[in-house]
Amino acid sequence: MLKPLARQSPMEDKEGFRGALRTWFRQHGRDYPWRRTSDPYAVLVSEVMLQQTQIATVLGRGFYSRFLERFPDIVTLAAAEDEPLLKAWEGLGYYRRARMLRESARAVLLHHGGEFPRNLDALLALPGIGRYTAGALFSFAFDLPAPLVDGNVARVLTRLFDRADPIDSGPMLKWLWETAAGLLDHEHPRAFNSALMELGQTYCRPGLPDCLSCPVATYCQAREPAALPVKAKRQTISEVDEHAVFLLHRGKILLSQQGKGRREGMWRLPLREAAASLPVLHRRKYGITRYRVTLHVHDCPAKHPAAAALPGEEWIDLDSLEEIVIPPADRAAIGAVRGGAEEIA
Ligand code: SF4
Repeated sequence: MLKPLARQSPMEDKEGFRGALRTWFRQHGRDYPWRRTSDPYAVLVSEVMLQQTQIATVLGRGFYSRFLERFPDIVTLAAAEDEPLLKAWEGLGYYRRARMLRESARAVLLHHGGEFPRNLDALLALPGIGRYTAGALFSFAFDLPAPLVDGNVARVLTRLFDRADPIDSGPMLKWLWETAAGLLDHEHPRAFNSALMELGQTYCRPGLPDCLSCPVATYCQAREPAALPVKAKRQTISEVDEHAVFLLHRGKILLSQQGKGRREGMWRLPLREAAASLPVLHRRKYGITRYRVTLHVHDCPAKHPAAAALPGEEWIDLDSLEEIVIPPADRAAIGAVRGGAEEIA
């Protein structure tokens, strides 16, 4: 792969590097709704949504605008009950994020009179706000200088400086944050951080980067950029089977409300190991954290022991399924069984 030769390191000519990045971003930066606002609440909502969800999903399926219409400020979010909050988050997954967002809103009301603090330590003290999110709020909302390192920035920096040490090692993480701080444009922190992230989303993407079009190629030291960054830990994916029963009675379906944990408050098909040998109506695969789950939905005769409702389970009107929060895989499985869909192998 052809890659322009580096003239000098970004650290040797910080102003030139920042200027090249800024000029490119001014001309080609993407227009996202969270880049049109300096409201820290709206910026925080976008950052939390984008933590585990792609930009295309957040924007294309209208999650961001709908959430802000439903909860336009921290006062409405802080007062939100579980049910409408999770409903507004339905489809985004990782529901813990929605609750943490609400906790942050409550803390801002309680400890800061409803105004997000313009202080990094105070931002870091808010629930669910880590170093990256604090840096994003500080620079994107307030245009104040704070470094930030996410996956995109980490990839760009390791390539710019040709660092092949594992990016998930302690010393390398320290280096990444120090390097992001050292390069940061204190005059234009919002544009600089946005540009660095966008460079990682566009030209300096995972796998094969587009170095010939890259606006900072003449500062880049990477010899084999496609091989960077290096990761030490490989996460292993475990296969898991879930066996659920599908029980209908007089226009109602038996569902189980989830207790403490990742899906707290949500309604799922009742899981029963004892149903594993019953006929399968539908199968669906989904991923959650490091698990690849196969949900088997079984036909269950009314007299089978697995048909009895357990504590936490209720018969829910089929007409009110849209009003409650059901994880996407369960909702899709219910729809498929009701529609008489073929099993998915
Ligand atoms: S795209 Fe990435 S690897 Fe390629 S020149 Fe630009 S910064 Fe370096």
